[in-house]
Amino acid sequence: MSSQPKGPSVLLRRLREVMAEPHDPQKRLDIIVADIAANMSAEVCSVYVLRADGMLELYASQGLKPEAVHVSALRVGQGLVGTIGVSARALNLHDAQKHPAFEYLPETGEEIYNAFLGVPILRAGRVLGVLVVQNKSNRVYMDAEVEALETTAMVLGELIATGELEKLSPKGVALDLSRPLTVEGISLSDGIGLGYVVLHEPRVIVTNLFNDKVDDEINRLREALVKVQVSIDVLFQSGNVPVEGEHRDVLDAYRMFAHDRGWNRRMEEAISNGLTAEAAVEKVQNDNSARMMRQSDPYLRERLHDFDDLANRLLRELVGKEHGASAAIVKGDHVIVARNMGAAELLDYNSKKLRGLVLEEAAPNSHVVIVARALGIPVVGQLSDFVSNTEQGNPIIVDGEAGVVMLRPPLDMENAYAEKVKFRAGRQKQFEKLRSKPSRTKDGVDISVLMNAGLVMDLKQLEISGASGVGLFRTELQFMVSSTLPRPGEQEELYRHVLDEAGDKPVTFRTLDIGGDKVLPYLKTLQEENPAMGWRALRLSLDRPALLRSQVRALLKASAGRSLRLMVPLVTEVWEINQVRELIKREVELQTRFGHEMPRSLELGAMLEVPSLLWQLDELMQAVDFISVGSNDLYQFSMASDRGNINLANRYTAMSKSFLRILKKIVDKADQYNTPLTLCGEIAGRPISAMALLALGYKSISMSPIAVGPVKAMLMSLDVGELQKVLLPALENISEQTTIMELLTDFADKHGIPY
Ligand code: PEP
Ligand code: MG
Repeated sequence: MSSQPKGPSVLLRRLREVMAEPHDPQKRLDIIVADIAANMSAEVCSVYVLRADGMLELYASQGLKPEAVHVSALRVGQGLVGTIGVSARALNLHDAQKHPAFEYLPETGEEIYNAFLGVPILRAGRVLGVLVVQNKSNRVYMDAEVEALETTAMVLGELIATGELEKLSPKGVALDLSRPLTVEGISLSDGIGLGYVVLHEPRVIVTNLFNDKVDDEINRLREALVKVQVSIDVLFQSGNVPVEGEHRDVLDAYRMFAHDRGWNRRMEEAISNGLTAEAAVEKVQNDNSARMMRQSDPYLRERLHDFDDLANRLLRELVGKEHGASAAIVKGDHVIVARNMGAAELLDYNSKKLRGLVLEEAAPNSHVVIVARALGIPVVGQLSDFVSNTEQGNPIIVDGEAGVVMLRPPLDMENAYAEKVKFRAGRQKQFEKLRSKPSRTKDGVDISVLMNAGLVMDLKQLEISGASGVGLFRTELQFMVSSTLPRPGEQEELYRHVLDEAGDKPVTFRTLDIGGDKVLPYLKTLQEENPAMGWRALRLSLDRPALLRSQVRALLKASAGRSLRLMVPLVTEVWEINQVRELIKREVELQTRFGHEMPRSLELGAMLEVPSLLWQLDELMQAVDFISVGSNDLYQFSMASDRGNINLANRYTAMSKSFLRILKKIVDKADQYNTPLTLCGEIAGRPISAMALLALGYKSISMSPIAVGPVKAMLMSLDVGELQKVLLPALENISEQTTIMELLTDFADKHGIPY
């Protein structure tokens, strides 16, 4: 027998015909294994498909006893086939029976075969099954044959992914591809959402596997690769690439991979074996993913993402798919699944259909999470390898209460969750009943519960949630969702609309807070090594006064005859707020001269987000009309703990004694000067941490609309005086590791306070 394969491209051509012919699934599989065996001069060819119960079931065989088909099965990890299932790597043995993992299954009659070549059937690096050829002789399969079998396995991967084989197993166990998967992450936004997966950056699904002309395909691949290489080089030349840092590392890795000869060679090899350029990219990427997913080194796993991104770029180049915008093809309610994404990208989706968000990497106070919270969407984050287990359109449940995601849930779980959604809706109704009740603690302290907003549609929530006003209107969201700089008229229109919608309830507008992680694509900013502490927010506004002036003008005009409350973000020194007051004064004079009606009253506040202000509190309290503590930024700067870094997300907590002491110091000073004080960071929206804020003396807090009901329910059953008695002394003892959270939950449990 010849050890040369009779050309994998001949086999692929044949398989293309078989795939197109009208066969029932079993018949099709039987023909495929017979064809592979014949082409590779093997006496046996078998396909094992991975079931949801972790068994690799023999689905078809040429050469093994027919009665073993759908009877024989190996656990993942068991025998040679199971070993391939675990390692996702080919196994090439000339004397299989000597291999320590060899396990003899009597029903198959395989004891007479010595040579064994098995390859994983992969999809996005995940094992769906195993394809095996065997020979009686002790032959050694050549590398080209391994490659050919791997290429052929892609066809089977496609066949399994289409769901065609789903019903063949007499055991009635579903295939692994449709296996329900429950993954624990962390809760980033409360709520429960049921829907279908929309992959934010969908893998391009390659359906055109077989090539007609090898040379044409190689040319297509080369052209696409050059385009991708050029686009990455252009990125480097644009000067928009930082000199060092994480972003730089990623781009460096991109460039390295894009020019990697080994990668190119393997793709061209796959084309020579009969695949189209796109199928070759997918095949090689499958192999890479399978290998790298099994690495525990975080650096290498990170590089896998880079490789994935690059392969996807190349695929999009080859099949001409646009980046993103995959939502349209998924029917029903949407749950976005992404490694990570920007706040503006989330806003691109139709919020009416949005039921949840799953992010592999996001941190609790990143802006995308804040925006999702503002939209009332449950978010679960920090789940590794979730995207690769997910197919576009898969049913999914996001449990933002428990921080768990259920992919392809069984029907009973779906029903249970549908019940839970109903229950929560009922609870929401309870909260709605609180709307008209005074927001007063059990011991009679009035608390102003406000909401954060940033888009006109958020304003509907004022009525629904029962918030007593908007404590923070993030004006930059209009800038972030727009593809060009919003014109002054558009800004004015938005602000007027917001005030109209709010009616009697007060609204506090914050001037533009851009820079840092809030990037405007049309506004060229400098590449900064440390953007969170860079040229952002008020700093940028003071240096580019035209931008601030036109925003102030729009706000003044929109508030004609009404009250205007305006605050500035990231104040670092008191004189900055004086400069803003000066700018506003000049603008008011100018507009009055032009005959425009001005606001009835104007209050200017500062956001307290930078620790330097803690040593200027006396001056600050006198320089402003009100203070709003931006605890997200104040926390990140006080603790030197990047709010967007997941590795730090669980390290420190805003409920630490040190941070609570800072917050207490601010309240005391505000009380001393009678300066109105609000806190508008994310801690205001969690009932348990809001409880601590009230005990520190905060009487006005602003949060995402969805949190208003639960926070109100908490405070109405809280005796603040009692909590102060235990919390304030606990802050004294700083050397003990933080136990404040425990103290708070114990207190709440003991006093029946919902949190
Ligand atoms: C904050 O920093 O707490 C805040 C409310 O502002 P943002 O989250 O928009 O930075
Ligand atoms: Mg901030």
